[in-house]
Amino acid sequence: MRIVVVGGVAAGMSAASRAQRFSADAQVVVFERGGFVSYGACGLPYVIGGEVGAFSDLVARTPAQMRARGIRVRTRHEVTDVDARAGTVTVLDRAAGRTTTEPYDRLLLATGVSPVRPDWAHTDLAGVHVLRDIPDGEALDASVRGAKRACIVGGGYIGLELAEALRARGLSVVLLEKGPEVAGRMLDRPLQAQVREELERGGVDVRCGVTVQGLTGRGHVTGLQTDRGLVRADVVIVAVGVTPNVELARAAGVRLGKTGAVAVNARQETNVPGVYSAGDNTESLHRVTRRRVHIPLGLPANRMGRVAGVNMAGGEARFPGVVGTGIFRTFGLGVARTGLTQAEAEALHLNAVSVDVTSTDHAGYHRSSRPIHVRLTGERGSGRLLGAQLIGHNHLSVKRVDVVAALLGERATAQDLFDADLAYAPPFSGVWDVLLVAADRLQ
Ligand code: FAD
Repeated sequence: MRIVVVGGVAAGMSAASRAQRFSADAQVVVFERGGFVSYGACGLPYVIGGEVGAFSDLVARTPAQMRARGIRVRTRHEVTDVDARAGTVTVLDRAAGRTTTEPYDRLLLATGVSPVRPDWAHTDLAGVHVLRDIPDGEALDASVRGAKRACIVGGGYIGLELAEALRARGLSVVLLEKGPEVAGRMLDRPLQAQVREELERGGVDVRCGVTVQGLTGRGHVTGLQTDRGLVRADVVIVAVGVTPNVELARAAGVRLGKTGAVAVNARQETNVPGVYSAGDNTESLHRVTRRRVHIPLGLPANRMGRVAGVNMAGGEARFPGVVGTGIFRTFGLGVARTGLTQAEAEALHLNAVSVDVTSTDHAGYHRSSRPIHVRLTGERGSGRLLGAQLIGHNHLSVKRVDVVAALLGERATAQDLFDADLAYAPPFSGVWDVLLVAADRLQ
């Protein structure tokens, strides 16, 4: 059994490791077009900001360590074509400039996403960056040294994490967002405003409702032309979203879903026999809405990879889907969400209602106690939980989102949440935790 994996980061390496462990007889080969495999891209902003010592610290396992486990890893090898009928892939060895044809019995597409690069003039200027992988991080880090003014385009979580990182590096930071508020795709409107206010407290110049028209500079970027005038910057980061890498899927005749990502079943199988797909390039089932979604995040990518690995090696595993859980930190705030926001629920014509509770994260009398805001969303009538959004001034306090995430997968009600036997002691929560208070109000 020859298993070929395309892409060697979260999904690809999880799959390769699982397949190898499941079936020692399987020959597992990973082709990765970049120079690194098995690393945590999520840590990139924290290397830039100085909370992680070096980019190399993000690498969980080197190609040599993977080879020692019996997995053949070929870095700087790009798969350029798939012939699903013949059961072969075309591989370009980027260092040697040589192309070979490699057979497979099972093929996994774990090709991830690419950052959206808007069609602006002069995006090729030095000092203009996207952040997706370690080389991107190293290039950005080099630009930041000696720079004074940064401009981040995009108020999603990567833009926000970078805003904090670049302030920590001593740069002045302007954040431009096209929409009316930051974190627009994660939170309902009132909570978005809290995030913007925290960015401003952290010294970030946040400008919403601004459209970038192009970049200025000769050789090196000097600024951005927007519909509200010129913004000067010597380093620019474009973080305006991602698009799934589906060229190989198309070449293989693999069906894409409505989201534009690869459509799979719960075993991570595509419509083409023997071809699997997992990770950021792949759709998943939303367990609250039962719709197919494209939510490119780390845990689902790893999980889909595991499932694909077991199945490719002859086992039986299923990916249950996602509930849309996400979390990030911006300066002193922790921000988390799971399920649906009120706006998302309304867009799906669900009869949704939300309650907002502002309380303290620990017992109110305890010195460590800080404000926390919970918005809990449920379905009128049935009482079914639909989602939660949390903003906390102790950033770890919002990890209690996981309680709701676990319940959402089980289609629980507000009553179920209220009945949960949560841990309590004064340095951790009030006796009636803020989640319980919100659940009580939602019933
Ligand atoms: P990728 O990590 O994109 O890996 C795909 C690999 O496939 C790439 O290395 C690519 O070079 C390779 N490849 C593509 N095409 C080919 C080809 N034709 N031939 C050979 N190789 C190919 N998620 C969270 O849940 N929490 C976070 O806090 C978080 N923070 C993030 C911060 C940043 C800055 C970034 C960039 C991402 C963050 N993520 C976070 C997302 C998370 O990193 C991804 O969900 C995860 O990396 C997806 O893994 P993947 O294996 O599906 O895809």
